[in-house]
Amino acid sequence: MWNNTDNTETENEHNFNNFDIGFYFNRSLTDVEKEEVLKKIWKPEPTFEFPNTVIFSSKDKRSKNLKFQYRWLHTFPWLAYSAKLDGAFCTFCVAFAKSRAGINSQILGTLVRKPFQNWKHAMETFKNHVTLQYHKQSVFDADHFIDIKKTARGNASLKIHLESSCNIKYTIPISQNAIIDSCNSILLNKIVVRVNEAKCFTVLVDETADIAGLEQVSICIRYIDLKSYELHEDFLQFVPTIDASGKGISRLILDNLRKFGIDPQYLRALYVHCSAHSSNLAVSVSCNVFQIRNCMGTIGKLRDIFVFPKRKSVLSKAIEMSENNISKKPLKRNCETRWIERYHSVSDFLELFECVEEALEEICEWDHTDTSNQASAFRNSIL
Ligand SMILES: [Zn+2]
Repeated sequence: MWNNTDNTETENEHNFNNFDIGFYFNRSLTDVEKEEVLKKIWKPEPTFEFPNTVIFSSKDKRSKNLKFQYRWLHTFPWLAYSAKLDGAFCTFCVAFAKSRAGINSQILGTLVRKPFQNWKHAMETFKNHVTLQYHKQSVFDADHFIDIKKTARGNASLKIHLESSCNIKYTIPISQNAIIDSCNSILLNKIVVRVNEAKCFTVLVDETADIAGLEQVSICIRYIDLKSYELHEDFLQFVPTIDASGKGISRLILDNLRKFGIDPQYLRALYVHCSAHSSNLAVSVSCNVFQIRNCMGTIGKLRDIFVFPKRKSVLSKAIEMSENNISKKPLKRNCETRWIERYHSVSDFLELFECVEEALEEICEWDHTDTSNQASAFRNSIL
């Protein structure tokens, strides 16, 4: 009946598995216990017979037998069933949720501090649980906890520290970020000393949006290490910005160099784009030639025509019926900023040319006037 694949699992005097979640909830857990909840918690076998709960339905005026459904464990991977309490819990929240949460800082209830047993409303409760802020925070804390444990495995000093009996372990995100900031200051200062000694350097800068949509500028520095006479390219910092203009970026570079302690008078700047960007600029300029601009515009709009499923299926059928061995399926989007995408969109169009023409010819005969007129106009423009 019990899942005894792990040899460390034993049953206690009450015949409940030692890793039943019912032994862990509603108390402060040690790191070892948190790891047990995340990785070793007992799961019933598919053949496990969950006990029935008799529920009286006032609507039907009769009693019903309801019980925990095994399939819920697959639908909600965070769910754990306690045979000890005949109740369900959220593993992440049992291990990491605070005792209170929500707008009025309410004491957390079922799935966290009490077993959930209302099987009639199980699905809606479980679906709602994943949307709660404290559950999301518990999932985040669990990921963070596992990451630290993984790092500790390859670092003997960290492992000893985490497994020691001391209470202060500096594993919460605030402490971790403070440690990372300290490492950053130490490394940055070492680089700054070497750059100032070199008395000649140049900067490498790129910008990209992070996952939160914030524009981040990465500032790197290129200089000669006078001790080893080796050329170095070192990363200095990510700096967020809202002004991505040339003036804004140049001010950001100079302000931050001064902030790091680097003397800008030794900056030897030669402004160059990277090769891919230069190539894109060349393509962009060529697109100002009206014949090329019109051609690219037509290719882009043709791709938009075949976005709709019914029209797309006509093109797909033409590709399938084609005697040429065509490897491409849909027409690609003509991206404004990536030159390689422009190249692919043109080369795919050329390969699919006959099929596109055939598909447009078929769509020209449709009853829907707007669509058939549009197809006819595009067919004339590419022939
Ligand atoms: Zn949860």
